[in-house]
Amino acid sequence: MSQQIPPGTATRPHTARLYDFYLGGKTNYSPDREVAVEGLKLFPNAMIAARQNRAFMHRVVRHLARERGVRQFLDIGTGIPTAPNLHQVAQQEQPTARVVYSDNDPIVLAHARALMTSTPEGVTEYVEADVRSPEAILERARETLDFSEPVALTVIALFHFIEDTHEPQALVRRLLEEFPSGSALALSHATEDFDPEGMRLIADRYRQANMRVRLRSHKEVAGFFDGLELVEPGLTATCDWRLDLDTDDVPQLPGMVTPAEAGVWA
Ligand code: SAH
Repeated sequence: MSQQIPPGTATRPHTARLYDFYLGGKTNYSPDREVAVEGLKLFPNAMIAARQNRAFMHRVVRHLARERGVRQFLDIGTGIPTAPNLHQVAQQEQPTARVVYSDNDPIVLAHARALMTSTPEGVTEYVEADVRSPEAILERARETLDFSEPVALTVIALFHFIEDTHEPQALVRRLLEEFPSGSALALSHATEDFDPEGMRLIADRYRQANMRVRLRSHKEVAGFFDGLELVEPGLTATCDWRLDLDTDDVPQLPGMVTPAEAGVWA
């Protein structure tokens, strides 16, 4: 498959490709790997944390599609395709599920074809946009999603890259405002609550490489859910959220991974 990757893209490390590296993917370049490997020395659980986050995404989508019957998803900060992608999980449960993906990394756009393998009954679409421009995302998402039916907004491991000046909680509220009752928010967010030193060190390494990172506390992450009703078990570490929801992942038993290793609120 030939991919159009804008010149210069691979010369600077990018969060999407570091995450891909930590997941064991191949869509990353030497500037990404250099920072990723140094990051691993500072926070040796980075690969566990990435996999736990991805597994949480699988479980929360299964919960939404299976237990709440959600058939529409707006996924912002999608990441480089990694099977199964969100639509594959959702469409296993709801074959008619409609999924709009969005990311601002040109590499994700270049690989977006892998995100478009919808079931015949469902739909997937890709929108290149920045979460800091919610109007643009909503306008494009509206072409695929029916905003009179419930929509799940999934922002998994995204907002720790958005600084306070961009008012991330307000961005989420703006996006949810368009959706009717029965809609949902699924979110995960890196934190220094569990392993303050390791997280601070890896976040600083990202910053030195010109990536913006804003770790948030339990209280700050809970703020994203203000005015919403939290489903059980509420805000937990990724590794502790609804392990009972079976997925195609390696089975995980309670306590097998600790919050300090997972590093992310969910
Ligand atoms: N949601 C996926 C990927 C998380 S990695 C998962 O949890 O498995 C974080 C993603 O957010 C990357 O793909 C990165 O490109 C994207 N991202 C970072 N800043 C962004 C922004 N301002 N707007 C949109 N996407 C952004």
